[in-house]
Amino acid sequence: MKTLNKTRPVSLEKIMVFVAVFLPLLGVLVAMIRMWGWGITRVELSNLILFYIITGLGGITVGYHRLFTHNSFKTYPTIRLLLGIAGGMALNGSLFEWCFRHRKHHVHSDTEGDDHSPHLQGKGFWNSLRGLWHSHTGWIFSVGKPEERYAIQRLRNDPISVFLDRHFVSWIILSALLPTLFGWVLTSFSWEGAVLGLLWGFFVRVCLVHHITWSINSICHLWGTRPFATGDHSRNNLLCAIFAFGEGWHNNHHKWQWSAKQGLFWWQIDPSWWFICLLKKLGLVWDVKAPTREEIAKVMAGVRVEKHAV
Ligand SMILES: [Zn+2]
Ligand SMILES: [Zn+2]
Repeated sequence: MKTLNKTRPVSLEKIMVFVAVFLPLLGVLVAMIRMWGWGITRVELSNLILFYIITGLGGITVGYHRLFTHNSFKTYPTIRLLLGIAGGMALNGSLFEWCFRHRKHHVHSDTEGDDHSPHLQGKGFWNSLRGLWHSHTGWIFSVGKPEERYAIQRLRNDPISVFLDRHFVSWIILSALLPTLFGWVLTSFSWEGAVLGLLWGFFVRVCLVHHITWSINSICHLWGTRPFATGDHSRNNLLCAIFAFGEGWHNNHHKWQWSAKQGLFWWQIDPSWWFICLLKKLGLVWDVKAPTREEIAKVMAGVRVEKHAV
């Protein structure tokens, strides 16, 4: 009886996760059919782009990842709150679950204990495909919550972080409500504008942010360059960097986890870093951490020596 009682809430949670993953995909299908017949208006496109940037750049990369998980800069409580809400609106999990799991990823990177490594499913073609699926989406259905030992005490002690985590469902509702309102207002209060706002600004956008974020777990541990020796399979991937606002410089990130800057060279585009620099110019963030040119050059020199030695 005890086992039955324990499994019930987990099953409900799994159903909710299943809906959160596959409903946006269904939304994309509906949007494609609609676009085939009626095209796409400027309002729908701007709705999609605006909320993609708010939740992808502001929420996941600058907020959940660089600020809350890695503490790579400091900012005012209001900015923390806004970035955290934007992160919740991405439907990538609650603040604590996301940050603790990401910490776990860095602790175990590509070894036993890493929840979404593509390299732990065995050798051979089919196992590689299984690894790709697992790292991209499959892990969401097969792993539980990150264990307590991966908790970040700094976040547990922060009232804003606790508030953000506790009210995750509210941010999901807000995530659907805001684009609907945006579409409704910009089409002179038409119900069709509201529905299309929900379709493009919520369903399609959530699907895009999901798969781009998950690509960092899958693609950036499979394909790309490895300028730094990190002891794992993390890679730099230009396409992921473009669509994930600089997060595609993942090998750089595994080497310099505490850095707010992931595009370390002038040609490595990093819009999240640019946004942090803008906030710094406005006096809204401070104590921004990034490796100096000398530090990078030293490590690069070390890598070259290692390569020659091999
Ligand atoms: Zn990684
Ligand atoms: Zn990280």
